[in-house]
Formats: sequence, structure tokens, C-alpha cells
Amino acid sequence: MQTPRVTLYDTTLRDGTQGTGISFSVADKIRIAEKLDEFGVHYVEGGFPGSNPKDAEFFQQVRQRVWKHAKITAFGATRRGRIAVADDPQVRLLIDAGTPAVCIVGKTWPLHVTEVFQVSLEENLAMIADTVAFLKKHGREVLYDAEHFFDSYKEDSAYSLQTVTAARDAGADLIVLCDTNGGSLPDEVGVITREVIAALGAPVGIHTHNDSGVGVANALAAVHAGAVQVQGTINGYGERVGNCNLVSVIPNLQLKLGVPLVADLTKLRELSIFIDELANVPHDIRAPFVGAAAFTHKGGQHVHAVQKLARTYEHIVPEAVGNQRVTVVSDLAGQSNILVKARELGFEFQKGAPEVAKILRAVKNLESEGYEFEAAEASFELLVRKTLGLHKPLFELKEYHCSYRRSGETRWSKCEATVKVILGGTPQYTVAEGDGPVNALDAALRKALRPFYPAIDAIKLDDYKVRIINGQEGTAAGTRVLIDSTDGHEHWGTVGVSDNIIEASWLALVDSFEYKLRKS
Ligand SMILES: [Zn+2]
Repeated sequence: MQTPRVTLYDTTLRDGTQGTGISFSVADKIRIAEKLDEFGVHYVEGGFPGSNPKDAEFFQQVRQRVWKHAKITAFGATRRGRIAVADDPQVRLLIDAGTPAVCIVGKTWPLHVTEVFQVSLEENLAMIADTVAFLKKHGREVLYDAEHFFDSYKEDSAYSLQTVTAARDAGADLIVLCDTNGGSLPDEVGVITREVIAALGAPVGIHTHNDSGVGVANALAAVHAGAVQVQGTINGYGERVGNCNLVSVIPNLQLKLGVPLVADLTKLRELSIFIDELANVPHDIRAPFVGAAAFTHKGGQHVHAVQKLARTYEHIVPEAVGNQRVTVVSDLAGQSNILVKARELGFEFQKGAPEVAKILRAVKNLESEGYEFEAAEASFELLVRKTLGLHKPLFELKEYHCSYRRSGETRWSKCEATVKVILGGTPQYTVAEGDGPVNALDAALRKALRPFYPAIDAIKLDDYKVRIINGQEGTAAGTRVLIDSTDGHEHWGTVGVSDNIIEASWLALVDSFEYKLRKS
């Protein structure tokens, strides 16, 4: 494969999780890495290996998987001052993570080196060179993140250049200039990036933060000046106000500057919503390119006139990023998305086919109740099959019941569930206990299904998320439950919505079993 002119480096799983309110389970991290890989991101940074059990487990699991596009990257720092690099446990963990690429951050700014690190400027250069050389010796691709590069360069360009020269001379494959505090403006980022490329004669990447509201613009300015890698996060998650938003950078580069990045840009909106769903964050309707309002036109004219007029008010064709134009009359809106998804499931329909309209109607109805399908592909597949009359339920539910008892004195608590279902023509009645209502229902339903579907034992519930949502009328608040399941090979997401958390959980649980057991 030809080396792309510009590569994408995603740090949603590391820098992104520094953001307030953003946290991912190991299962989430795996699903996100897989989604980014599928989308065509070139580097996926997984986190600091060994900094916590979650990241350690992540690196353990990614080693057993095959990646189509992405190089999984471990993140760390240069060795500590005044010790040999081989004796620094943090650097050893980077090797132990077993990733093809490693990104290390080092100090550029004399102020930080002497005041915060409390080492001499010379020792800092040795820390950079030793660490890069050590990782290279172990066969890793090494990306060097020059922290505070722009702030430092403005104050002391000579020393700043010495730090990145040390990394280059030690064999770093890429020098990444970081606007760590997010205070730089696009024109200075462009000028400085150009000067550094000329001085180093080596490839340079860009890592920006959005504190001045120009994280994306700074990244574009750097690419314009010759940078060959953009580092950022999906939806701009990150510390303080966030990182450079890859969801904006990618279409700007690909559609406007003609820089080829990913094969199928129409998956962009889906990717953006998927990550928000797993982070349990509502999708921003005003997000550039992918927000629900990005191509919404308020105009009450004749259909054709509005459609014609809309184009003159759009900077790109909405479908190019998987979005859609929303006008007052939008009976065809959304059909292309459904067509694409149906095709992925093996159904070929023509635009305007009655089946497509039927599926779209079902999706819109459920969405108005609070359903989201971007992170619940398995529920979407079931919905399509149900709408087309192709779905055979695993069982018929007669009733379920769930009780919770807790003692105020001893804090002893107990949850019990019963399930009554018809399976293979005969009624099954099972009872089970669990840590909580969902756990108890899960156990009772498994008990009933096990004799008929022994494959159920392979299904593990990996993650469970609850979001309180407001109904469209703003009346009763509903509950959306998202369940991640796995059988050790495949991961799938299911969703349930109800004004009752137990019923919402039940719906997502049943979808999970039906999705998997239908195939086994
Ligand atoms: Zn950063």
C-alpha cells in the first residue's frame, strides 16, 4: 500500500479521556479502536500501558486482534532524569505493550525543563535521545511529541529546535509539534511549522488543542505548511475545552484540500455518533459536518425550490459525510442511509422502494421515543428483519417479575427475578438471583433458554450504560439502556428504551440474545 501523504493519528482513547465526563470501559475501548480501524484511521493511540489495569488489559486484548488499517500505538514519556533508560520502568512498559508504534512526549520549553522537571537543559536532550534510541533499538516506530512546542519556540527557538533535533538524530520516525496549551493562532502555527520542517529536513506532524477555538484551523495551517500527520480526537474530546476535532479536520482535508485520508467518508457521521453513544454524551446538533442541524434549512417553499435553494446554502453535499439535508418536506431524507445500512446486512433495495420507506418509518418512530442505533448495530439489524417480516422470535414472553429487598440495618440486599416464556411450544418457568435486577433477569432468562440454545453460555454482557432522555414532548423522561455483548470474537451493541429502567434493560438484553442465537 502506498504511504499516504497525510496520516491520521487518533488519541480519543488517551487525550480524549482526559476530558471532563469522558470515560470508557475496556470493552468500549476495543469497540472504538475497531471502529476507527474500520474507518481507516492510521494510528490509534490506546493509552499509557501499565498506568492502570484498564489500559494494561486493553493492550493485552489488542494484541490478539488483526488490524486492517490502524497501527495501535502505546503512549508514554521520555525517561526520567538521571537514570539509565533501560532502568526506567515506564519505558519498559512501552516495550512490553508490544505495539508496532510508540509515541513519547518530551519537554521542549526551558521553563518546564528547569522548573518543573528540575533537570539541566543538557540532561533533557539526553533524556529525549536515549528514549527514542532505546525504542528504535527494540524495533518500534517512534513518534516524538514535542510538548509546548509553539510556546517554547516563540521564547527560545534555538533550544526548542535542539530538542527535536535530538529526537530526529536518535532515529525518531516523526516529530510532532504540540500546541499543548492551545493558545497559538493559525498564522503562527503555519510559519513555525514551515521553519521547523526546513530546519529539520524530517517529517513533522501536528497536535493541537482547542483552547482558542482554532484547534482545527491550526492543524489545517500546519498541513498547509507541510505537516504529514494530524493528531486529534473524535468529536474533539479532551482536556479543558478539548483537542483538535478529527471529525472536522478529516472532511476539510479530504473534500476541500484534496488530501486523500479515508476510503469511505460517508461513515463519518456514524463514527461521530458512535463515539458519543459509548461516552454517554448527547450528540451535538451543531457539530460541523455531522450535527443534525448542519444541513437543516428552514424554508417553507415548494419542495423543488427549497431543494434547489438549499444547495446554494451548503458548503458540501451532506451525503458526502453521511449526513442529510433536512428541509420542511423531507420524506426522502434518510433513505440513502437506510439503503447503505441495509446493503451491509445483505439486503439490496432501490431508492424509493416501499421496504425502505417502511424501515425508515420504523426507525423514525423509535428515534422519536429516544432510540439511537449508531452504537446498537445488532438492534438495528433485528429491527430491519422485524420490519420485513423475517424475524422469528426465540421465545414468547408470558411475563417476567423482578424484586429487590434491602435491609436498612445490615445493608443486606437481594434481587430475584422470575421469567415465564413459551419455548418450543412448552411453557418454561425459571427463577434466579442476581446482584441487581438486570443481573437477576439475565440469569433467569438464560436458565430458560439454555436447554434450547446451549450457545447462550458463550454470550457475555460486557458493558451496560443508562442514559436518562427527555421525550420529544418534554413530558415524561425516558431511559435508554445500551448493552455491549461479546462471545469472545464478535462485539455487538443493543438498545432498549422505556420509561422504566428494568423494561429498557430487558429489551436490550433480549435483543442481544436474539441477535446472536439466531445465527448459532
Ligand atoms: Zn494533547
